[in-house]
Amino acid sequence: MTDVDVAIVGGGPAGSAAAYAAADRGADAVVYEKGVPRDDRDGLGPDSTDAAGFLDYWLDVADIDFAELPEDVVEQELTGAEFVGPGERVVVDRTGIESDYDHFGFTFHRARFDDWLRERAEDAGADYETGTAVKDVETELTDGHEHTLHLGDGDTVTARYVVLADGPQRQVTMRVLDDLLPDDRQASDVLNPREANHIAYQEYRRFPDELFDPDSLKFWWGWMPGETAYPWVFPNRDNVARVGLTMPIGLDVDDFDAAEWRLLRKDDDRIPPGRVYIRRLLEELYGDEYDVDEDFPLVEGHGKSKSTETYAISSTRPIESPVQAGIAVAGGAMGTTSAFHEGGDHVAHRTGLLAGELAAEGRLEEYNDAWHDAIGDELRRNVAMADVVGDHSPDQWDRTIRIAREMLAASDSGKIISKSNARSAAGGLKLYTRYRRAKFRYRKGRYAQLRESDYEL
Ligand SMILES: Cc1cc2nc3c(=O)[nH]c(=O)nc-3n(C[C@H](O)[C@H](O)[C@H](O)COP(=O)(O)OP(=O)(O)OC[C@H]3O[C@@H](n4cnc5c(N)ncnc54)[C@H](O)[C@@H]3O)c2cc1C
Repeated sequence: MTDVDVAIVGGGPAGSAAAYAAADRGADAVVYEKGVPRDDRDGLGPDSTDAAGFLDYWLDVADIDFAELPEDVVEQELTGAEFVGPGERVVVDRTGIESDYDHFGFTFHRARFDDWLRERAEDAGADYETGTAVKDVETELTDGHEHTLHLGDGDTVTARYVVLADGPQRQVTMRVLDDLLPDDRQASDVLNPREANHIAYQEYRRFPDELFDPDSLKFWWGWMPGETAYPWVFPNRDNVARVGLTMPIGLDVDDFDAAEWRLLRKDDDRIPPGRVYIRRLLEELYGDEYDVDEDFPLVEGHGKSKSTETYAISSTRPIESPVQAGIAVAGGAMGTTSAFHEGGDHVAHRTGLLAGELAAEGRLEEYNDAWHDAIGDELRRNVAMADVVGDHSPDQWDRTIRIAREMLAASDSGKIISKSNARSAAGGLKLYTRYRRAKFRYRKGRYAQLRESDYEL
């Protein structure tokens, strides 16, 4: 007899969704969340740093009904997004993917969203222990499977199933999976956050009335060097916006020509830290007419600390789980966060739901097939897109943004990425073909970099 049916490591969207789904189906489920403090939450909670935007069809991917979201979770409903290159821009008014939600998307308060997911799990009967880190998980496979979780407070707990949802740092996940993999195929090699490491940084600033756009997300692509490196502005309530960025760690400034990148300066002796990049962005955009400190003040009571937040993020390609050992890896821990746009709450929520549901029903061996079916299209698109733009120079970003604008203009409804739309943009067909080829390479689940058959069980 184990202490619980399903033990879950990490209480972000993936972990809370797993706990909810498992408890809702009558299983004993417990979440261990190490807990981080935030200025905008009383007490410890999950590590909720996030620009917190959702696109329309992500609701379907996530299996969330918009009507269920509490009102104070949603910050702004959106009509579109704007992508700005060094010299080109495109305003996108649809995702081109079918969805029941009739806005382009919405921004939300991630800490409140996570707290709602936690409450939903607790209402269904799950336990959610905050302030308890999981140090390690031992797996015994002699007679079926049993897992012993070693907790930070010295306690141990046994579980029939374990869901690893410890997010992109994956410290527990990598240790557990390494024991089940051959030496030349270690999870700590393919998933290692040191190899695929990004830093995300954001500030909560109040914008002047005339500059605050509540309807649109904004991204600046090709302004700073590195793969998946770009700043953004996400509108929240009351003229407050999250001004943030993501960038790889460990870039050498000498590898880049400062004259090419709008947010680099020729006397930079290293890649600037996030706060310097953000200031440069605001200065570039508004510095001629506004004083950044006075006109875009940092607002109190938001974010992790002093209206800023920093978060290590590691997006890579996803992995399948060792389901025969009674283990499911979900969300950021399994590499579902997109290396193209860093979006990942939707896929984290959905993989968590599936892991919890299947564990509760004693059908966890179906998990890998289930998540490929549910989120495979989204992952394949994102992995292919990341390949296509991974090493884009500023000029290439401008070209891609121009092509996107011309493709968008080719039809005013329906799919954006289609061969006929590509034909109407100069260079469109070439870009479209690169994307289709990348997608083809990842058919039949090949976007997964560890397969179930890799595990030695
Ligand atoms: C700045 C930024 C902007 C983003 N913007 C968006 C966006 O706009 N839209 C979107 O959909 N996604 C966005 N993402 C991605 C999104 O945040 C992730 O995909 C999502 O958080 C993954 O959820 P998760 O539950 O798998 O992991 P996490 O949310 O990282 O949760 C993992 C949890 O596990 C806990 N934990 C870790 N180790 C242990 C341990 N040993 N014991 C106990 N607990 C542990 C952590 O404290 C954490 O709470 C963004 C990410 C960043 C950093």
